[in-house]
Amino acid sequence: MKVTEAERESLVELAELEMQLQKLTASKSKLQSSDPAEQANAEFLEVSEKLTASRAEQEDLQLEASRIEEDLELVESRMLRDQSLIQQSSNSSEITGLQHEVETLNKRKGELETDLLEKMEQQESLTAVIGQLTAQKQDLRDQLEMVEKTHDQQLLEATNQLNDLIARRNQLLQTLSEETSADYQRKASRGVPVGLLREGACTACHLNLTATDLSAIRSTEIDELVHCPECQAILIR
Ligand SMILES: [Zn+2]
Repeated sequence: MKVTEAERESLVELAELEMQLQKLTASKSKLQSSDPAEQANAEFLEVSEKLTASRAEQEDLQLEASRIEEDLELVESRMLRDQSLIQQSSNSSEITGLQHEVETLNKRKGELETDLLEKMEQQESLTAVIGQLTAQKQDLRDQLEMVEKTHDQQLLEATNQLNDLIARRNQLLQTLSEETSADYQRKASRGVPVGLLREGACTACHLNLTATDLSAIRSTEIDELVHCPECQAILIR
């Protein structure tokens, strides 16, 4: 099969284009198979879980604090009642009994107040934790959005570049003779259809040609279309 100089030029460009196409196809499929948001997503879920747990803990604390407050009210009203009974009573043994009860209630009141203070302190530090987690969650959400946006953009760029290359390939194929174009497309369906002979190697398969193969190719006339003996691609000298 003979090739004209114009066809040879088209084939050189096609060989370079095929190399770009291969690289771009590989990086596109890498982009498609990777989830860039995986790490940010895992962190986001972790923070969300912590936040939910902290909120539940705060609700529990709130409930416990309310119970303590109710108990305190009961103790206080009981103390008031006892004190008014003491004032009204003239029975000394009843007064002693009531005074003893007031003392016990007072002690209980002190304990409840200490508990309440403790719960309030716990609530305060938990509120700070919830604030931090909420901010962290928002940051991660923003990060996720950005990472996904960047990924989508990269994918779109790769697709556009690929489409441009394919369009250019189709243009170049039309400059080839019907026979060469058919040969090219047949080979393209199996692998890289065209390679350049560079430093004794074929750029389509990257294999070094043997000395015998090289001298056979060199002895072929320059306008004769040769093929790589290793991968069968059209080989341009
Ligand atoms: Zn080859």
